[in-house]
Amino acid sequence: MSRIIVLPKDVVEKIAAGEVVERPASVVKELIENSIDANAKKIRIEFWRGGKKEIIVKDDGIGMSREDAILAFKRHATSKIRSEEDLEKITTLGFRGEALPSIAAVAKVEMITRSEEDIVGTRIVIEGGEIKKVESVSAPRGTTVKVKDLFYNTPARKKFLKSVAAETSQIIEVVTKYALAYPEKHILLINEGKEVFNAPPSDDLENIAYVLGIDIAKSMLRVERKEDYVKIEGYISKPDKTLGNRSGMHIFVNGRYVRDEFLYDSVISGYRNLLFRKRYPYCVLRVEVPPDKVDVNVHPAKITVKFEDEELLRKVITKAVWEALIPQRLTPKPDIPAKTRVEVKREIQAKKLPLEPKPALKEKTPERIEEFWGEYRLPPMEILGQVEDTYIVAKYSGGIALIDQHAAHERIRYEKLLRSMDEKKYQNLIAPRVLSLSKREIEEIYQYREDLEKVGFEFEEFGENTIAVRKIPVVLTRDVEEFLRELLSELRRKRFVKKSEVLDEIVKNVACRGAIKANEPLTEEKMRAILSDLRKCENPFTCPHGRPTVIFLDKEAIEKMFKRTV
Ligand code: ADP
Ligand code: MG
Repeated sequence: MSRIIVLPKDVVEKIAAGEVVERPASVVKELIENSIDANAKKIRIEFWRGGKKEIIVKDDGIGMSREDAILAFKRHATSKIRSEEDLEKITTLGFRGEALPSIAAVAKVEMITRSEEDIVGTRIVIEGGEIKKVESVSAPRGTTVKVKDLFYNTPARKKFLKSVAAETSQIIEVVTKYALAYPEKHILLINEGKEVFNAPPSDDLENIAYVLGIDIAKSMLRVERKEDYVKIEGYISKPDKTLGNRSGMHIFVNGRYVRDEFLYDSVISGYRNLLFRKRYPYCVLRVEVPPDKVDVNVHPAKITVKFEDEELLRKVITKAVWEALIPQRLTPKPDIPAKTRVEVKREIQAKKLPLEPKPALKEKTPERIEEFWGEYRLPPMEILGQVEDTYIVAKYSGGIALIDQHAAHERIRYEKLLRSMDEKKYQNLIAPRVLSLSKREIEEIYQYREDLEKVGFEFEEFGENTIAVRKIPVVLTRDVEEFLRELLSELRRKRFVKKSEVLDEIVKNVACRGAIKANEPLTEEKMRAILSDLRKCENPFTCPHGRPTVIFLDKEAIEKMFKRTV
């Protein structure tokens, strides 16, 4: 007797369904995508018990003929592509022809649909992949799909479903994404008979207010940029409106929502260090690229995508985000006493600085950016002394400032390093320095070589087990060998998975190691140099890790502490 058998069709169907239909939210996602592909103007999503009991998605799209409605439930039956070449230029959300058959394999499904040309509509009942009924019914144009008792025939999968609350929140998340991606559509979400949101056709910002709430909409900054073949537009929140996770970040690629680390990262790096550690912004960003520059066929549920040129994407997104932030003269809020911000604002207004970006700034050249930030450096300060060998105390026209000498110096070195990288400035060593590193360390240097070279190192192979350094970053004040050894052990300790984070880590390490430390007595001259350099920083308010560099105690705050005012 043979041990191997070919699986029966219904088992195969159930296995395949697992790829597309993981949970109620994936059903909702597929059905909304179908409605959008069918050009619906209005989509109504209703569900019960976290979608485990029932999900109904109703649209006013193009609908289907009786013949197509039956075909739609066949695996790999689609109206969206015809041949392999079409895969290169997909403009619809679906194309695999897998959603309906997959859903039907693991639930009780009813579909009512009518196309423009037909007088009567079609009703199909299908359970566990088996068509039970096909009949003519009267129906409005469009399609309604009801999905009942998900996983009723796959108890093992059913067990893996989470609580009603958890499944509910996933469904809300999915629908939120689509509601944000398609402001021109009317999207209505109803849970157990209660409206979650109702977003009629509106402009982008209004739509954000409908879906995410007025509060968030108010904090949003417009992002817009076109470069090469990449177009990006939408909104990002100011750095003081953040969340402890990425759930506020909504990114769409060619109208398809994606949850891609690489894209989240690009947006976050656009904030440079305006965000505090472990804080994530809100954003609603639409990225458009020609369909042949992106592969959406990476994941069956199509949540990640693959770009032909990731670097270009990263560059455009990062720039777009940064440019939206610049005119806002943003100082991170949480760590600076509230009064000071008022004070700073007053100062700015006294200097008659524009609160809105000047029209001329629309096309920003690097020089203009410098100038603009120039207006917003720290106030002039006069040194009073150093306390605890760690903090510089200074006075400014409005009060007292405390500066964390290490954080400040890190910031200064960090920006200097970034500038030198932009300008490709390095220190040439008079004679190449031969390093005595272990075999493992040398291998690691090769592994990170590209990023190390971006920062300003240049290596050459020397002997079998040796490596020589020719150039080092401008700000490196430590012994090269010692520095590299520490850096490698740090990278090892953090076990980097993402290549994109290596460069940042190297930059921060160069900036941090060799910076003035805490518990280090400083001469007045040294302190003066720190303050003057800090004032010239683009973002003097935080260190590269997001800690504050300076705290202001203004007159009002001091008076309050002495209870002179209430
Ligand atoms: P895909 O979307 O990948 O083509 P599906 O299984 O989701 O595969 O749907 C199969 C086909 O059924 C679609 O190609 C489309 O022609 C049709 N269809 C599905 N949902 C709708 C809808 N809401 N309105 C009109 N046609 C639909
Ligand atoms: Mg589909």
